[in-house]
Amino acid sequence: MVIKNVNLETVCGYTSTLPDNTLPEVAFAGKSNVGKSSLINALMNRKALARTSAQPGKTQTINYYNINEEIYLVDLPGYGFAKVSEAEKKKWGEMIEKYLHTSKQLKKVFLLIDIRHKPSANDKMMYDWIVYQGFEPVIVATKLDKLKRSQVQKQIKILKEGLELKKGTTLIPFSSISKQGREEIWAIMDEIVDT
Ligand code: GDP
Repeated sequence: MVIKNVNLETVCGYTSTLPDNTLPEVAFAGKSNVGKSSLINALMNRKALARTSAQPGKTQTINYYNINEEIYLVDLPGYGFAKVSEAEKKKWGEMIEKYLHTSKQLKKVFLLIDIRHKPSANDKMMYDWIVYQGFEPVIVATKLDKLKRSQVQKQIKILKEGLELKKGTTLIPFSSISKQGREEIWAIMDEIVDT
């Protein structure tokens, strides 16, 4: 897809009603600091469309980017800030659950996991939620450039085992520095636009 325009069209907070879109949606989820903003910027060829390195305590929102009036990229709030209160965590969970449960146009969920680390309990919970809601998540293993080549396969195995990934799940190693993986993600989004 040639990106002609990208527009942050809707920002939803905890109490917002989610938009009833007619265009297809693809959502991106992951723990805070996993590299989600960097990935969105890399996908869009923009330097600072999505915020990078959001600070703990910042408002957690669901952001809808309209791409070419063809598809929405939905940026889900990052999870896993240690300093966030239980009440905030609960709100976050409810917001994500509401989105996964009610969005009629959601076609694909990309779950980002840092390739260097064993998935956290929150990562596993997020994966299970996505599957429970009937989606087949695509796993994006971020920060690939931070590993030596020789470590990649071992880390992918740790990731697969930690999430207990279903056989056949697509896993895309990605780096926002080298842009490796960008084309694979776009191919999945293109297919959604074309169907
Ligand atoms: P977010 O909280 O998930 O949106 O994560 P950010 O995109 O803000 O990234 C968190 C930190 O990781 C920032 O310092 C980024 O520069 C860095 N980062 C993100 N992606 C990559 C990557 O692919 N490679 C490297 N080396 N650093 C990355």
